[in-house]
Formats: sequence, structure tokens, C-alpha cells
Amino acid sequence: MTGLPPAPRGPADPLEQIRHTILADPQHAVAYLNAHAGTLPWPAAVTHTLLAEAHLLDGNPERALGHAVHAASLPGTALAQALPACAVLADLNCWTGQDDAAEVCSMYRDLAGDADDPARLVCAQALHAVAVFQHQACLRGRAALDDLVRAAPAGSAVLVMLRHAQTAMADSCRTGTDPAGPSAWTPVPGGYLCPAGQPQPDYLTSRLGRHHATHICRDERPGPHTAPREVPR
Ligand SMILES: [Zn+2]
Repeated sequence: MTGLPPAPRGPADPLEQIRHTILADPQHAVAYLNAHAGTLPWPAAVTHTLLAEAHLLDGNPERALGHAVHAASLPGTALAQALPACAVLADLNCWTGQDDAAEVCSMYRDLAGDADDPARLVCAQALHAVAVFQHQACLRGRAALDDLVRAAPAGSAVLVMLRHAQTAMADSCRTGTDPAGPSAWTPVPGGYLCPAGQPQPDYLTSRLGRHHATHICRDERPGPHTAPREVPR
């Protein structure tokens, strides 16, 4: 492909340059990464993780998922590259509503725990709670998220993110509807576009709002199915 600048002007670090390119022009970043795949100064797992993030931002989640699966399954990948690959893979499983999203989040959570990476660990646990809320049982997802809220440092960006999701989950259960929340793209914390310790406030709700909830709470309330439509006051 011709006409592709090597990278935008800006930071000297090539990885930092491509981060900027993805955020500014993901389509251009995809073209650049594909055109220079053989000469990029990092392992293939990084390239495929970056391609996954760029494709998702560019509105192509299926292609993004393919790159994320490839990045996370490359043999011999060092932990420093496997962690962001798994973060992006877990995120894309949630974004695209895969039935086994909770299992993939568990894999990411275990890797972050083994790596002693507390910032990624709490993000992985939170994403797992979202997947459980959607695919398994709302109350279990909420209980897991409540535990994370209690443990999160006061005033932290993580706590803000967790509380947004906590409120969205509670509202969803109260109304028996699917979770409301922004469905627009927000970078997954712990990938290459957002530090794990600095998640955006709407990250979790952006994933929560994309798919149905599995409301088991309706069965555990006193007579929601048989209650009269007009409750006398
Ligand atoms: Zn519920």
C-alpha cells in the first residue's frame, strides 16, 4: 500500500505513536499495521492486539475478535504482551456477546492474578461480573461487583467506573429491563489504548448496555409475576 506515512508526528516511542494513530484514525492505523506487519519493532502478539483495538474502534468487531483470538493464542508470548492481548480478547467477547464471555474473562482474571497485576485484576473481575450479569445470573454479577466496589480505593477512577456499573445493574434489576448505558466504544483498560488503572467512567456500562441481562431476580421477589397491575397505596 502506498501513501502511508510511517507514523504520525509526535511521541518518539513507536508504540506510543501507533496508539495516537489508532485513536485519531483507526482505519489508517489498520492499513499501517497491515502494511508494515513484518517490520514493526514488537512481537506479533502486539500487532494483532493493536489491530483488534483499531478494528473495534473502526466499527468492525468481528474482525477485531479474530485478531484478538490470534494475539492471545500465539505460542511463546511473554506475559507483558499476553496480558494486554487477553484484556482485549475478554473485552471483545463481552462486546460481541459471546456465550462463553464469562469463561474468557475468567481466563484473563487468572492471568492477571498470576502476574500479580492488581490494576488489570480488578478490571478483569469487573468485566467478568458484567458477563455473568448478562449470560448467567444478574444477582451473581451484582454480588461480584459489590465486592469490588467495597474493595476499591476511595476516589479512584476504578471506583467511579465500578459505581456506574453498579447503578446500571441495580436499575436494570429494579425495572426488569436490559441495562441502560452508553453503547459507544470506550477503550478497554489494560489494552494498549487505556492504562488499566485509569479506566474511563463509562467503560463497564458501555459493555453492560450492549446485551441482555439474565434476570433471575424476578423469580426471587415476592410475587412480581402475580402482583396486581395497580398496587393500592
Ligand atoms: Zn435482575
